[in-house]
Amino acid sequence: MKTRVLVTGAAGFLGSHLTDRLLAEGHSVVGVDNLSTGNPANLEHLKNEPGFTLEQLDICEPFDVGPVDYVYNFASPASPPGYLRLGIETLRVGSVGTENALRIAERYNAGFLHASTSECYGDPIEHPQSESYWGNVNPIGPRSVYDESKRYAEALVMAYHRYRGVDSHLVRIFNTYGPRLDPDDGRVISNFLMQALRGEPLTVYGDGQQTRSFCYVSDLIEGVVRLARSEEHLPVNIGNPVEFTVLECAEEVIALTCSRAGIRYESAVEDDPSRRQPDIGKACELLGWEPQITLRHGLELCLPYFRSKL
Ligand code: NAD
Ligand code: UDP
Repeated sequence: MKTRVLVTGAAGFLGSHLTDRLLAEGHSVVGVDNLSTGNPANLEHLKNEPGFTLEQLDICEPFDVGPVDYVYNFASPASPPGYLRLGIETLRVGSVGTENALRIAERYNAGFLHASTSECYGDPIEHPQSESYWGNVNPIGPRSVYDESKRYAEALVMAYHRYRGVDSHLVRIFNTYGPRLDPDDGRVISNFLMQALRGEPLTVYGDGQQTRSFCYVSDLIEGVVRLARSEEHLPVNIGNPVEFTVLECAEEVIALTCSRAGIRYESAVEDDPSRRQPDIGKACELLGWEPQITLRHGLELCLPYFRSKL
């Protein structure tokens, strides 16, 4: 069935890829975005696409785009430098903005999927992280503007499901990368690739022994779409379970780009989670989903995009 879909945060990295996927399936998409961290260039290729419109608005203000069948709520600053710069806006988009998006789903009896995050687990004591783990989050540290915004949003989505009957879904996204990542928003893969391509040393924060598990964007979007069409209302992890230290990630980038500028160690970031690895057993079982693309292959796929940003 062809549907009309609302994507909040459509001009961002993930929102724009999701929009492409939905349009390719024949759905029509209304994107909304306040362009605080997104870039209309991510949607430039859709300017003559009749099934797509973009409205520049802040979802923290009440809004209505007319009847829709589904709402994907992806609006939120997402990179640490982005949400540290926009702390209060980040708290508001997870709370007021997410409630406005939920009200649209309720009004039009639409399905709802919220982009949550592995940050809900904070600096995890359980490893790998499964959905049943409640997390270890500093509620007042610098990252709390993001982590607690996302945790409150999960509570809000569950409440709209339980009290108002919204057909909702929660995806906990682990570090995802690919073309259209903002080359300047400070995330590790974009920083490393841009630094390597510029012939600059790669900046490793702390000793580089902290870990992350990196998922390529096409794998992530496949998992998100499958979850959106499932019967599951509780959170589901979507990410690539292959874990790398940040130093190993730097070495992958150096090997791929043949960079000779080396590594520059910089001071550790406050409250930087020491490890991060999704348990994807639930996604495998419920959705028949698992990622296909290795870090090395994903980095190769990104190179032309980051080269074009030099
Ligand atoms: P992004 O910054 O590229 O995209 C977010 C988009 O939301 C931007 O276009 C921004 O302008 C828009 N936005 C922010 N506040 C808004 C508001 N008040 N009203 C309207 N639009 C607003 O980031 P991304 O990586 O594409 O992340 C998208 C979503 O996925 C976010 O909710 C993020 O928390 C979540 N997520 C991403 C990752 C990842 O690794 N990329 C990991 C976990 C969760
Ligand atoms: N990081 C780094 N150098 C950089 C950018 C990030 O060493 O130039 C580290 C950062 O300290 C963290 C990891 O890489 O441990 C992932 O950072 P990112 O900002 O991409 O996402 P996070 O998982 O922290 O939200």
